Amino acid sequence: ATTFNGRRVAVFGLGRTGVTAALSLQAGGADVWAWDDRDVARDDAAKAGVHVRDLNEVDWAKFDELVLSPGVPHELPEPHWTASAAKAFDVPIICDIEILAREINARPEDDRPKLIAITGTNGKSTTTALIGHVLHSLGKDAQIGGNIGRGVLDLDRMHAGSHYVIELSSYQLERTFSLRANAAILLNLSPDHLDRHGTMDAYGEIKTRIFNNQTSADTVVIGVDDDFGKALTTKLKARNGRRIVPVSAQRALGHGVCALGGPLMDRTGRSGRVICDLTKAKALEGTHNAQNAAAAYAAVSSLAIEPKTIGEAILSFPGLAHRMETIGTAGRVRFVNDSKATNAEAARQALGSYKDIFWIAGGVAKEGGISSLMDLKSHVRKAYLIGESANEFAATLAAETLDHKVSGTLKMALLCATHDALASGIADPIVLLSPACASFDQFANFEVRGEAFRKEVEELMALFARDR
Ligand code: ADP
Repeated sequence: ATTFNGRRVAVFGLGRTGVTAALSLQAGGADVWAWDDRDVARDDAAKAGVHVRDLNEVDWAKFDELVLSPGVPHELPEPHWTASAAKAFDVPIICDIEILAREINARPEDDRPKLIAITGTNGKSTTTALIGHVLHSLGKDAQIGGNIGRGVLDLDRMHAGSHYVIELSSYQLERTFSLRANAAILLNLSPDHLDRHGTMDAYGEIKTRIFNNQTSADTVVIGVDDDFGKALTTKLKARNGRRIVPVSAQRALGHGVCALGGPLMDRTGRSGRVICDLTKAKALEGTHNAQNAAAAYAAVSSLAIEPKTIGEAILSFPGLAHRMETIGTAGRVRFVNDSKATNAEAARQALGSYKDIFWIAGGVAKEGGISSLMDLKSHVRKAYLIGESANEFAATLAAETLDHKVSGTLKMALLCATHDALASGIADPIVLLSPACASFDQFANFEVRGEAFRKEVEELMALFARDR
């Protein structure tokens, strides 16, 4: 039995998360009513043992909770009637994270796993994976999941002495109320998902919920390189209790963890000390990754783990695929896959981190295209444009007199870029895929795009190796 024993719970949206949530609630003794508008999803769920029942005609007054798939917003007219109907009856709308949180809270204090939660507009997955890597390197029992990898209810159940490292999106935080994180990180906040959350204030309020329910034994980690983080630190300091650790990759902090161009400094104790030299971390190039590393360090060190060993583990992080991932080299040319950069802001990190870039960009453009990146044009030698946005981007680049070429396909762009890079005589040229665009005109998603790039690059590198 669980905290949901005997409660009537509606589950709307039967993708993988919904099905797992329904099964886990049923196992815990809840009276589950699960539904999806798609026949196929309903059939599959029923086959998996989920209690599929029509939610169209129910009396919402009789329901205790609604588990809503993360993709479905709170406020939408037909056909997403469920959320508004449930809301009208004050039925709380929750998600899988809330189910896990209640399960953990119901255990005796000394039988709970440690929970590290990570949110922010950018860098969540990198920071989450980095923390997982550090804990594993130090021989700790840890699982990562949430918005990255497996859903939290798909993870093995854990007990005292082990760690959950959980990435949380604003969509999930919006439906989570009982989470108590031993260490929680808010990396940064910039305008994103405002179509869903309305205003920056509302978006910020939802992200800040990651710190709810923390006590004086817990740690708050806040990135203070943007105005929101700065203001939030002041606000939380005014309330006594939790340990607050500000982190920065832009300025030296009197108190906190900072990483400015190399040394990762822990200034939370009386005397500051250098934890490691980030220039030795191959997979953590760039200022943005210094922020991720500082935040990861702050969270892990709060769990009473020896700082030096954390530093060593950070340096051996292999990095995540598709995020400024070096695939290899051919001659002097280095190939970097940053397929995850699906908008201009994300591509800014890669463009800012390298010089002498032969840049492959394009796909389905976001509003504003790549004009906001033109302050970095001196980093780019030439651009190779692919996909739907090729002509629009060509116009932007022409106006900036930045050398470019419409290549159409990824393969063609890669061949031309590699040729030009080799012929350029530059010492360390970079062929970079950082599209600043969504992928769905030519690929199923950013992962498929990145894998296609990897395959082409590996063929090129093999050819090159044979030729020597
Ligand atoms: P998320 O999971 O939040 O989408 P990722 O770790 O997958 O973040 O990184 C996605 C992209 O965002 C990266 O390719 C990089 O360009 C950029 N990025 C990563 N970390 C940060 C950061 N701390 N601040 C700003 N941008 C970042």
